[in-house]
Amino acid sequence: MSERQREIAQNIARIQEEITAAALRAGRNPEEITLIAASKTQSSETIRDALAAGIRVCGENRVQELLPHLEDKSYEGAEVHFIGHLQTNKVRQIVGEVSIIQSVDSDRLLDEIEKQAEKRGIRQDILLEVNIGREENKGGVLPEKLADLVEYARGLSHVRLRGLMCIPPADADETQLRALFAQTKQLFVDTRCKMGDNISDIDCLSMGMSGDFSLAIEEGATMVRVGTAIFGARPPLR
Ligand SMILES: *Cc1c(COP(=O)(O)O)cnc(C)c1O
Repeated sequence: MSERQREIAQNIARIQEEITAAALRAGRNPEEITLIAASKTQSSETIRDALAAGIRVCGENRVQELLPHLEDKSYEGAEVHFIGHLQTNKVRQIVGEVSIIQSVDSDRLLDEIEKQAEKRGIRQDILLEVNIGREENKGGVLPEKLADLVEYARGLSHVRLRGLMCIPPADADETQLRALFAQTKQLFVDTRCKMGDNISDIDCLSMGMSGDFSLAIEEGATMVRVGTAIFGARPPLR
């Protein structure tokens, strides 16, 4: 095993322990929580190292990084979720290729996913991203507009709504983060209530990153997306 492989494996083992501890503090079953490796900018080799160390889901931000990794089978044995900002004209390239598109935030995007999923004869799982910190120039639907988007998604037969995702403001302190995660959990519960017979479809609450995943789990996250704490600091996105 190389030094790099050992480092990644140790990081993942430590994070899994922290996930378990946070779940137990909150009286939750640790097995409800999925660790997603946010693998943007990482090489295929590094992604395989993470899978060898027990990662079962990778999260990718950019279509142009995702496609080559799919091509060379970097994710073999794992699922991929799309977690980055998605342009309508790129939807075609990822529908049916990723298990869940986590970053859906408009009816236009839903329409395009519906259209592409219908073409392929599949149902595409998605999460709706909530702009919980109400930041300008940030992806996600505003909290007060979420209910309408949930209704819209429910009307589509090739889209399956699985839950919510959020990315709080980068400068939020611990108190603010806890409040924002709790608000997102409440929106998640409200969304479940609106689903009628399909209530059991809504099982994913994706929140928490390297700096705050324990807090997010205490507030109800079922998926945490962790990059830096697994792979170390990454080069800036170009
Ligand atoms: C990069 C990224 C993460 C992980 O961030 P870290 O702070 O490196 O853990 C999580 N979610 C999204 C959407 C990201 O782009």
